[in-house]
Amino acid sequence: MKAKDKEKIAMEVQNILHMNTGDGDSSYACNSFLQETAMWKTLPVLRHTIKFMANNDIIFNTQCFKVADLGCSSSINSLLVASTIIDMVHDLCEETKHKSPQFEVCLNDLFGNDFNTIFKMLPEFYSNLKKKKKKKREHFGHCFVSATPGSFYRRLFPNKSLHLIHSMYALHWLSQVPEGIENNKSNIYMSKSSPPNVLEAYQKKFDTDFRKFLQMRSEELVKGGCMVLTFVGRSIADPTIDDCCIIWKLLAQSLHDILKEGLIQESDIKSFNMPYYNPCEDEVRNIIQNEGSFSLDMLNVFQVNWDPHDTDYISTKDFDVPSHIHGENAAKALRAVMEPLLTSHFGNSIIDILFDKFKKHVSLQLAKKKIRYYNIVVSLSRK
Ligand code: SAH
Repeated sequence: MKAKDKEKIAMEVQNILHMNTGDGDSSYACNSFLQETAMWKTLPVLRHTIKFMANNDIIFNTQCFKVADLGCSSSINSLLVASTIIDMVHDLCEETKHKSPQFEVCLNDLFGNDFNTIFKMLPEFYSNLKKKKKKKREHFGHCFVSATPGSFYRRLFPNKSLHLIHSMYALHWLSQVPEGIENNKSNIYMSKSSPPNVLEAYQKKFDTDFRKFLQMRSEELVKGGCMVLTFVGRSIADPTIDDCCIIWKLLAQSLHDILKEGLIQESDIKSFNMPYYNPCEDEVRNIIQNEGSFSLDMLNVFQVNWDPHDTDYISTKDFDVPSHIHGENAAKALRAVMEPLLTSHFGNSIIDILFDKFKKHVSLQLAKKKIRYYNIVVSLSRK
């Protein structure tokens, strides 16, 4: 395939990620809550990174601290990252009696992202910053927010123009579906029954994409600049382990259910694979080391329940709340992310039925054994 065609397919995949979902706000709300839960769990790493930058004179010697959030989406969380970082830097300046820098926050996502929704939230964001400034009666740096649309697998910013890059729940999206995996049987992702070439193709695609991401960002960060990146990953080297694959297996089963009802064709399933990859810790470490531009300063892992409203992290099964409630919430959270991709491939007439089947499969799974999203968060500094 020609490079231009590959690029076109990649752009299509990426734009599809941004079409609207059909079930109103409820899927978005579940998904936003999942992302917010995960974000709170990454705060210790973010705090550590900001202190590390302050100790290396990156913050206090800077007039304007430049931050980018890559894959910011357009939910209520899009500005949460910015305000969290600004608060952390302010607190640190206060503690150490330094003057706060000004802030430039660049929000990035694909060209199809609804940046207007974020812009409409800006008046409230700026007014909250102003209130904090008044309360603390001290010099509070101005903040300027802008948008930088485009794929983070390409250059986005000028050379050495950023101090801190944040990206949450975006880097597990590949630039496109790996090539040569047409023989992935009835699976839609890696699975125990996938032929070896499929597993290899997925691993290779993540390797190429993540390496490219690191190269691009290494040009854009100042020396000593940092990145905090969070992926949904997997806990062990085996890429067919339940914690990354079972959710897609349940989605594949739901597709087969509607195939049996004659609503889609077998060829539709055979030609659908996820542009997605859950790396394990060693893969992330090795790619960072081999690419060579960054030091890995910290790597943490944490788990999040499929249903973000489920706060029980002890039980291995759903006992207290009937599992169909958790199943429904988990299905809604995934629908917000998956609906555009599924609609573009299978059409939107099957979506409600598909997610109804999916909800049931997820509930059955949670009643048997709770599987959680396994997340990897890394803090890197530019050498
Ligand atoms: N960071 C947000 C949203 C995560 S959803 C949060 O944690 O709440 C993942 C986002 O990554 C989506 O908005 C998707 O469009 C974006 N994304 C996926 N691939 C991308 C790419 N190559 N470049 C930029 N954004 C991308």
